[in-house]
Amino acid sequence: MKKTDTIVSMYDKYIMNTYKRVPLCLEKAKLAKVWDIDGKEYLDFFPGWAVSGIGHCHPMVAGAVAKQAKKLMHVSNNYYSEAQAKLAEQIIKNSFPGKVFFGNSGAEANEAAVKLARKYGSEKGRYEIITMLKSFHGRTLAMITATGQDKVKHGFEPLPQGFVHVPYNDLEAVKEAITEKTIAIMLEPVQCEGGINIPSIEYMKALRALCDEKDILLIFDEVQTGMGRSGEMFAFKNFGVVPDVMTLAKALGGGLPIGACVAREKVQDVLTPGTHASTFGGSPIVCAAGLAVFDVIKNDKLLSNTKKMSAYLIKKLEGLKKKYRFIKEIRAMGLIIGVELSIKGEDIYKLCLKEGLLINCTQDTILRIMPPMTVTKTEIDRAISILDKVFSKA
Ligand SMILES: *Cc1c(COP(=O)(O)O)cnc(C)c1O
Repeated sequence: MKKTDTIVSMYDKYIMNTYKRVPLCLEKAKLAKVWDIDGKEYLDFFPGWAVSGIGHCHPMVAGAVAKQAKKLMHVSNNYYSEAQAKLAEQIIKNSFPGKVFFGNSGAEANEAAVKLARKYGSEKGRYEIITMLKSFHGRTLAMITATGQDKVKHGFEPLPQGFVHVPYNDLEAVKEAITEKTIAIMLEPVQCEGGINIPSIEYMKALRALCDEKDILLIFDEVQTGMGRSGEMFAFKNFGVVPDVMTLAKALGGGLPIGACVAREKVQDVLTPGTHASTFGGSPIVCAAGLAVFDVIKNDKLLSNTKKMSAYLIKKLEGLKKKYRFIKEIRAMGLIIGVELSIKGEDIYKLCLKEGLLINCTQDTILRIMPPMTVTKTEIDRAISILDKVFSKA
């Protein structure tokens, strides 16, 4: 019996069955490569749902975590720590003037953003938040309500009030949905879970103008798009549109759990002592990891590598598109890449796994390809040859 089978049977016995899993038990990893517990090597082009944005176990991150672990791992937020201060400084210096609240996950970062918006509107009786169809914002009760997909809501009613959904990239729909109670518009600058949907620059600029005109907060959920993967440190920079609130998580901690709600000056002091908190939020060990992530992105010039590798990978994928008629469209911003098929993606994804390539399939027909920002041409060539082989069987 393979070691993997033993672990799978233990999961069957002891772990709640809340995920669609494939029988792959990973033991170790290095940047874009991972190894399973039985020793097989894989190329990871979807590292940890974009958590390992700079690759798995980056030595700089591992070193920073090890060093911090020996000094101080956690302090309560009634005290101060150098790492939290410095990570917030990095986030602000790379985004916009404002302040940061730290939590532990994407959903928690979004909860903070929604609470901030509600608090901001509370004196005027404004609490409604407009979100997008096909969005994904997390799995807490408020975030499944915010998420514009019915499949995440079933069986969990009654849900919190105050969320309205409109189609993505449709300005008129937003305008129609605004009432005197609207306090915020929340969206992902690129919908990732929703199928790699990229809105137009005009739409994003028009949203900004609309929000300014009506004193509505513009909230960007950059949980998946943030930290360089779009080719810019934060995806909003690709549109030239600065939000009032931005949420971060996934790649920010280099593999450790973190979430951040970043508020622009205008609303940076809305949440006051006693109104919001998180026990683990911004702990020194996680913030030390986050600081190392910023260092790596800068020192290894990963934004420029992301742009270069994005162009190279897209060119190769366009080549496959010419060869296989079931490839409908390739959508990309940096290393956030969607390949829309006219056939089901699940079999493709499973065949890739067998051939040693990890990717993702979302919305049934869209392959989501998000290699780490440290990816090389050699690794891309290998991935493309696996995809080619798999496509030829489809
Ligand atoms: C993953 C994700 C979330 C939820 O993050 P968790 O850490 O799982 O709570 C929220 N928004 C977006 C855009 C995401 O990709």
